[in-house]
Amino acid sequence: MHRLFQFKGGVVLKEHKKDSTATPVQPAKLPPTLILPLKQHIGTPAEPVVAVGDKVLKGQLIARAGDTICAPLHAPSSGTVLAIADHPVPHASGMSAPCIIIKTDGEERWRPRERNVFNFAELSAQELRGIIRDAGIVGLGGAGFPAAVKLDPGGRPVDTLILNGAECEPYITCDEMLLREHALEVLAGLLMMRHALNAKHCIIGIENNKPEAFRALDEEIRNSGADVEVVEVPTIYPTGSEKQLIQVLTGKEVPAGGLPIDIGIVCHNVGTAYAVYRAVEFDQPLISRYVTIAGSVAHARNLEVLIGTPLGNLIEECGGNRRSLRRIIVGGPMMGTAMHSDAVPVVKATNCVLVESTMHDVPLPSRDEYTMPCIRCGNCADACPVNLLPQQMYWYARARDFDKIQDYNLFDCIECGCCDYVCPSQIPLVGYYRYAKSEIWNQEAEKRLADLARERHQFREFRLEREKKERAERHKKKRSAVAKGGSDDKKAAIQAAMERVRAKKSEQDNVPKNTDDLTPAQQKQVNDADQRRREQSREEKIRESPSESKAKITQDRP
Ligand code: SF4
Ligand code: SF4
Repeated sequence: MHRLFQFKGGVVLKEHKKDSTATPVQPAKLPPTLILPLKQHIGTPAEPVVAVGDKVLKGQLIARAGDTICAPLHAPSSGTVLAIADHPVPHASGMSAPCIIIKTDGEERWRPRERNVFNFAELSAQELRGIIRDAGIVGLGGAGFPAAVKLDPGGRPVDTLILNGAECEPYITCDEMLLREHALEVLAGLLMMRHALNAKHCIIGIENNKPEAFRALDEEIRNSGADVEVVEVPTIYPTGSEKQLIQVLTGKEVPAGGLPIDIGIVCHNVGTAYAVYRAVEFDQPLISRYVTIAGSVAHARNLEVLIGTPLGNLIEECGGNRRSLRRIIVGGPMMGTAMHSDAVPVVKATNCVLVESTMHDVPLPSRDEYTMPCIRCGNCADACPVNLLPQQMYWYARARDFDKIQDYNLFDCIECGCCDYVCPSQIPLVGYYRYAKSEIWNQEAEKRLADLARERHQFREFRLEREKKERAERHKKKRSAVAKGGSDDKKAAIQAAMERVRAKKSEQDNVPKNTDDLTPAQQKQVNDADQRRREQSREEKIRESPSESKAKITQDRP
């Protein structure tokens, strides 16, 4: 019998799980277009390796992982790349982001199998992580962290690997249906992960409101003789949150701001284990997942949905009326995010599409329109599973005192919504915490940019000052040279110029003439010619100035 522990706070919620677990899981209809955001995981966006117009096969790599914290993308079906462009993605802000859009051809043609693994135990941990990374597997519990990174403890010993099948939010049943229908495959995936981590112990935690899932797993564990424990945990929200489940199963608390690996524990979702199994055993990348469609639809159910399927298609397939939609929530009513459009696609971390129409309200924890002033009842602090003071954080978020709110450990808040749920004044507390967090992140980003700009400005000032000094130094030298009447440098330059003129002249003088090396006869001819030239010149002068020239000739005569 496994000993269980308790965490402080939490709430007991109405489950709303029966409707969507009444029918077996079916594959969702193939949509005409699939929209694949390049970033549907924690980390950097994947880099496209296809171009518009390319034909792609099911399972073909379409965007590669360019960084350690990244996950590649694969075509969920065969077709043609229609566009690589911005498209609305599942985000609270309603923002658009780069996506690869594929027009499906309905043929569902797979790419050829690239590898066969006959016995995963013969692979090294690194080889196994390589397969998981190449398959684009991320945490399917909602966080979307690349699974291969989480399966690399970096040399730190792993005592316990926990598989999270708690699924504590109302309406969401995709993990429960997966365990009911594929318990053996989930167990196989868990053993593969254990091999990658070299973990000593393995525990699967399931809330005690899922007896069928528990039985299916228990049976497979008994039949296989695997050294794995499956443990039922009390149905208290938010037991499915990683830190709370660890505490319930082991009694250990993850330190504030720390990670489970800091206490020798790694926690993965059951859906992630199933994806690992398919990648290793069948060489299938992560291109589909189980998704619960619930709330205001005629047939609440779970479907196996291709990643990239628009939410509107799923809502229609389950009998929802797109014209009477009031709100679509991706995730559960407690921690989910309201979407701005039904055109946003299912991504790897989408576990539930919760539909609220004008005809049917999904009971959400709090609504802005019913908000009343805080009456300081303290219910929120009692319900907080992380031991925070939600009321204080609320006041500081309202006052925009972002330094003070961090003193109250804002970033330890897991946004579980328990405080919202119990607040008699219906204050949307989590909304305030999300707002405060995003403001702090923005301020930090702005501060980083400002620091960078200041550093650049300071460097420019320094460079200008240095150049100014160098110029002044050069002018000073020139002036002092002029004052001395020519510096040694100048004298040397003049001397060098004169030397060059002399050398040139001497070069010209040394050019051999055609009167050198004459024979005596030739010399006589030259002398005669010179004599004739002289006499001719004298006669010309006499003609020009007879008196002066005569006198000169007289003087010149011997
Ligand atoms: S539960 Fe609501 S009303 Fe009560 S203290 Fe907290 S914020 Fe105030
Ligand atoms: S949302 Fe945050 S503050 Fe509120 S109960 Fe959950 S962890 Fe505590």
